[in-house]
Amino acid sequence: MESPMTKTHTLGFPRMGEQRELKFALERHWRGEVSSDELEAVGRQLRSRHWQLQRDAGLDFVTVGDFAYYDHVANHIQLLGCEPPRFGFSGQEAPLARYFTLARGIAREAGTSGEGVPALEMTKWFDTNYHYLVPEFTADTTFSLADERLFAEVDEALSLGHSVKAVLLGPLSFLWLGKEKTSDFERLGLLERLLPVYGQILARLKAQGVQWVQIDEPILGLDLPSNWRQAFEPTYAQLAGAGVSLLLATYFSPLQENLGLACRLPVQGLHVDGIRAASEVAAVADWLPTHKVLSLGVVDGRNIWRTDLDATLKLLRALRELRGHDLWLAPSCSLLHVPFSVAGEQGLDEELRSWLAFAMEKIGELSILKQALAGEPTAEHALALSRQAIQSRRASPRVNNPAVAERLAALPAAADRRHSAFAARQAAQRQRFGLPLLPTTTIGSFPQTAEIRAARAAFKRGELSTVDYEKAMKKEIAHAVAEQEKLDIDVPVHGEAERNDMVEYFGEQLAGFCFTGNGWVQSYGSRCVKPPIIFGDVSRPTPMTVAWSTYAQSLTQKPMKGMLTGPITILQWSFVRDDQPRSTTAAQIALAIRDEVCDLEKAGIGIIQIDEPAIREGLPLRREAWRDYLAWATRAFRLSASGVADDTQIHTHMCYSEFNDILPEIAAMDADVITIETSRSDMELLDAFGKFKYPNEIGPGVYDIHSPRVPSTEEMLRLLKKALETIPAGNLWVNPDCGLKTRGWPETTAALRNMVDATKTLRAELA
Ligand code: GLN
Ligand code: ZN
Repeated sequence: MESPMTKTHTLGFPRMGEQRELKFALERHWRGEVSSDELEAVGRQLRSRHWQLQRDAGLDFVTVGDFAYYDHVANHIQLLGCEPPRFGFSGQEAPLARYFTLARGIAREAGTSGEGVPALEMTKWFDTNYHYLVPEFTADTTFSLADERLFAEVDEALSLGHSVKAVLLGPLSFLWLGKEKTSDFERLGLLERLLPVYGQILARLKAQGVQWVQIDEPILGLDLPSNWRQAFEPTYAQLAGAGVSLLLATYFSPLQENLGLACRLPVQGLHVDGIRAASEVAAVADWLPTHKVLSLGVVDGRNIWRTDLDATLKLLRALRELRGHDLWLAPSCSLLHVPFSVAGEQGLDEELRSWLAFAMEKIGELSILKQALAGEPTAEHALALSRQAIQSRRASPRVNNPAVAERLAALPAAADRRHSAFAARQAAQRQRFGLPLLPTTTIGSFPQTAEIRAARAAFKRGELSTVDYEKAMKKEIAHAVAEQEKLDIDVPVHGEAERNDMVEYFGEQLAGFCFTGNGWVQSYGSRCVKPPIIFGDVSRPTPMTVAWSTYAQSLTQKPMKGMLTGPITILQWSFVRDDQPRSTTAAQIALAIRDEVCDLEKAGIGIIQIDEPAIREGLPLRREAWRDYLAWATRAFRLSASGVADDTQIHTHMCYSEFNDILPEIAAMDADVITIETSRSDMELLDAFGKFKYPNEIGPGVYDIHSPRVPSTEEMLRLLKKALETIPAGNLWVNPDCGLKTRGWPETTAALRNMVDATKTLRAELA
């Protein structure tokens, strides 16, 4: 018998380039400054550079098909020939032009009455912060092999002399991730039409000389309806005939009831997420026939920490003793979700840098693991360095702050409860603030104008002094307050001019956080985010917002609303420690925010909003894990909010519109007022709040802030009346859907004027 072999590979590599070259090329192309040929040249250059880097790092394959000019799901929509007919393509357009039309829509032509065509909808890729373009299906959707890009990229890699593994999104995951545009059919029924096209693609790849195709079916980690589960065996039986070796890739979530199914599908290899599904690795090794390749995702593709190579080696050695699979080592998932390389992070000190591993460092770790498994002495030095870094992180006083742990341990059981129940608080707050019926407010931010951004940039470059920067921001705050006074808004805000970003602003002031200079991760299209890194115990050394809020309060007699970001949103939009449960980190952030809430209260700010737009997106992929998550997430919110007196009013804000399945938990957050996004769904979402008899006050957004359109007074009056059908007048607030930072001032004041007019009209009618 041949002895088992170890290989290394990655499921996918970041696309943007070390310096976000693709982002800048795309944006220049969209502005018409760069031709599609020039854009394609940038793409080609990035691919060849990234393949070479993977090869130099010692990977046994380069992965082809992970590149995309916008989104890999959109690539598949073109490849599989299912561009929705609503785009009206004639077939004469260049494929890349059509592709960008799917992604960005067709603008309405100025001066015409045409409506334009909206882009494909975008939604989150599983539980990541990456957004994909949603395929649209109808009963009439057909498929065909309609695009050459994948094959051209394979040729490109082959001609550069690489050993190629191609990657495809599997047919079942592709259908699952799409949406049914009409209700007269089930998209799973399209499988029969879809599979022959996958067959043709595999045949083409085989003809090109590709031996391995990674076929991603991440939905095997979801709670699937039984007809979807049952579709796997016949699907893969059909694809097995193509004559290429298939590596079925799963990631992000344990396989659980699908574990046996995944192991027995007629494919040549299986990849499992050794991080998120660590507890299943032994079972997979047991169940997977030994003639199949076992690909283990042992390096965390969702986080930025250096791998504990000693521990991983121990696990791998034990596995090898037990079973005789050919073992492939990989990151747990595509490296799309981590930044490019730590090497450029000169702004972080050496110790911190040594704890981190981005995409480049992660593929380096795979090579070390492989060498070490083969007993090569060359691995020793790298292993020693890694060991040192792991130990320094574990023992570092920068990570461990005993005061934080002690404070958490000593919390009284009632620390996450307000003193009194809502009814008593409501009475106290009514007496204190004397607000009119249907009080008006906004969600926090006012337009982030070019001047604000320029001032901040100059301040960061050191060209504007702290004093001058503060002066500039105070001027903006004074302007926002004056505008709200003119508009007669009942609960004004300071406008958040001083905030670059609602998480970064707080992270920069909290202990336990650090920031990279170049740690960009693709969010969608050309958009990237640079998440903070939470590396240590979190605490709040000094007040973060009190000076701005008290300044704003000094400018008006009305109650100024203080504005904070909540613990779960801060957690969710950061890279989080992997050496303690997320719930512990959440509780630490919660206490830091609680300190700020209490200081605001002490400074006379009587209304405080704690934004939690990310609570829903933190929901685990598996339903059975929801309850636990929601319990600690809502407790973290309550911890942050419960240090105040009854007559201090706590608001929260969430900007999404699916609440039905988590309403009891939202109610358990016990905010005095919740503002939510409802205008786009025409208040329909309120039905759920009404049925549930949501007890506290509520501000359903009466206008969509995503477009510059100014809604009329009548329109908002109608929405408010609709809201009154479900929410008692005494509990109803009036506000936009979300913050206004992306809008301009003229449309903002016009829309708010109409909003206040609608409110006053309704008040008069009710009186
Ligand atoms: N207070 C924030 C703002 O107004 C809320 C943003 C959000 O919900 N995403 O911008
Ligand atoms: Zn919002």
